Amino acid sequence: MTAFEKFPLGKPGFVSNILDRAAHLRGDDAKLLALEGESSSRAYVVHRDSLVVAQDADSPRALLTIEEALKFGANPGTIFLGLREGSAIFGMGISAAAVEALLPRNDVKVSELRGMAMQGVVPPEQLSAIAMAKSMVTWHQRHGFCANCGTRTAMKEGGWKRDCPNCKAEHFPRTDPVVIMLVTSGDKVLLGRQKQFLPGMYSCLAGFVEAAETIEDAVRREIFEESGIRCTDVTYYMTQPWPYPSSLMIGCTARATNEDIVVDHSELEDARWFSRAEATLMIKREHPDGLAGPHPFAIAHHLLGRWVHGGNNATA
Ligand SMILES: [Zn+2]
Repeated sequence: MTAFEKFPLGKPGFVSNILDRAAHLRGDDAKLLALEGESSSRAYVVHRDSLVVAQDADSPRALLTIEEALKFGANPGTIFLGLREGSAIFGMGISAAAVEALLPRNDVKVSELRGMAMQGVVPPEQLSAIAMAKSMVTWHQRHGFCANCGTRTAMKEGGWKRDCPNCKAEHFPRTDPVVIMLVTSGDKVLLGRQKQFLPGMYSCLAGFVEAAETIEDAVRREIFEESGIRCTDVTYYMTQPWPYPSSLMIGCTARATNEDIVVDHSELEDARWFSRAEATLMIKREHPDGLAGPHPFAIAHHLLGRWVHGGNNATA
């Protein structure tokens, strides 16, 4: 059964986190060091958008022992992600040179995370923890120096903080809010496509929330900027962590008050109104012209799927 036949799915990817973040342990350096040495502790090793997985017989394994991770060349600095059934789970980075050295090996594979997730290679219940590892490793790689005074900073709190020894500034991992919205007008839905999308694919419009902006205002502004459509009745639906590198997709619905689309071609290749019947075929990948909706992994699929099934109040 393909992901599209299972439509509508319960949840998009990266949503169900089975880890207990155990934040109370983050400040206990001795405890974290001891947990690193426990044989039951495990690590996710991430490099940019890819994950290092061990190849056990036929199946890949994302959770590595700490010893395996270090043997594969992971950087020694561990980020404490939390506890899973009492065992500590860490995130670790790895250099490009170490990844290069792994490529000829048969017992380990370095694969792009999103592809593995969509193909179901990584168990769905692990994706959120892997997303944590990916976002955190990336944050440390990009924030090694104090943004206030330029001094090299030090990892603290199990990786959940970086301290500046010079100006004493504390730096915390950031999460960037992004609004993604399903805009409807009666029985039609507004979808757009970016140049880099797969041919024929359309999805919900989206954009970053700006400084001192409400989610509702961000939805209205982004929709107007990208498509010339004014909208109202902005309603929150659900969120999805999106570790590229560290966004939180905030899914909303809204009702359009005009229908004359003016596409901003610096942002979108196209934007159109689609009927509910057409959107249904697109999301099930059965459209006669090959048009397609977003993948079930994405929150946009769930926004659209709910509307297709008549569960969106914004259609009123
Ligand atoms: Zn500083």
